Amino acid sequence: MGAPILGRVIDLHTHSSASDGTDEPRQVLEAAAAADLTVVALTDHDTTAGWDAAADAVERYGVALVRGTEVSTRVPMPDGSHISVHLLSYLHDPTNPALADELERTRTSRRTRARAMTDLLARDYPITWEAVVAHTGDGATVGRPHLADTLVALGVVATRDEAFATMLHASAPYYVPHYAPDAALAIRAVRAAGGVPVMAHPGAGARGRVVTDETIAELADVGLAGLEVDHRDHDADTRAHLRDLAAALGLLVTGSSDYHGAGKTNRLGENATSPDVLEAIEGEGALPVIRP
Ligand code: AMP
Ligand code: ZN
Ligand code: FE
Ligand code: FE
Repeated sequence: MGAPILGRVIDLHTHSSASDGTDEPRQVLEAAAAADLTVVALTDHDTTAGWDAAADAVERYGVALVRGTEVSTRVPMPDGSHISVHLLSYLHDPTNPALADELERTRTSRRTRARAMTDLLARDYPITWEAVVAHTGDGATVGRPHLADTLVALGVVATRDEAFATMLHASAPYYVPHYAPDAALAIRAVRAAGGVPVMAHPGAGARGRVVTDETIAELADVGLAGLEVDHRDHDADTRAHLRDLAAALGLLVTGSSDYHGAGKTNRLGENATSPDVLEAIEGEGALPVIRP
C-alpha cells in the first residue's frame, strides 16, 4: 500500500501557494524535511511558477526536488459532456511553447471562471472579487479552494471541506467549468516537452465521474507513463484494481499525498513512490531531479 519506509520516503504530488496550497514553495521543502521525506515533487495546478523558489530551498532543507505540474485536462464523452482528469507532468521543459501556451490558456480561463462563480455566489453571500483576489497568492493559479478560503474568512462556512460539500460542489448552482485541454492532447504536449505524464487519482470517484479502463488504455497508447495508485481518495479495492491495470498496460505505479498545506488534511508522505519508479521517471524526463 505504498507504506513509507521511515526516512526514505518519496512523495510525488504536492501543492504550494503557487496554486491552491497554503505553504510557500520553500515551506513545502521545509515541511518535507520535517516529515522525513528524501524526495518531494512540487506539482502546482497548471503552473511552474513555484519551481525556482522550491529549487532554491533544496540545499537548505536537504530534500531532493522533482519539478512537476498537475495539468487540468478533460476526456470528452459521447453525449457531449466531459470527465475531468488531472495529469501529473514530471520533469518537462517549462519553456516548451505548446505546453506553456496550454497551461496559460487554462490559467486564464480559471480566472474568468473564478470571477463568474464569485458573481453567482455574490447573489446570495457577501463575497466580492476583491476579497477572492486578496485570498489568492500573487500570480497563483486560482481555484475553488481560494473561493472556499474567502467564504471561510467571511464566516459563511467553517472549512474548505464544508464549502466543497455545499456551494462549491460541481452540482451546485454556483459551479462554472473552465477550459482544459483534452487528455490525449495534453499527454502528447507533455511528452513533446520532455515530461513524464502520470494520471493523478484516476479512481477518485467522490470528485465526480472517473474514466474507464478502456480510456486509460487508449491514453497509454498515446504516451501516458503511469497511474497514481496510492492516494487517499482510493479505497483498497480501487488500488488493487488500478495496480492490476497498470501491470497489464505496462504503466508505472506511483503513490503520493496531494499535500495542500493547511488547506487539506493530507499529510506529506502518507502515500509514497518506490525508488525504482522515480528512477524510471527521471530516465524518461527532460530535466534532472535536483538533489542536495
Ligand atoms: P478546481 O481545480 O478549481 O476545480 O478545484 C479543485 C481543487 O480543490 C483540487 O485541487 C482539490 O485538491 C481541491 N479540493 C477538492 N475538494 C476539496 C475539499 N473537500 N477540501 C479542500 N480542497 C478540496
Ligand atoms: Zn489543488
Ligand atoms: Fe488533482
Ligand atoms: Fe493535486
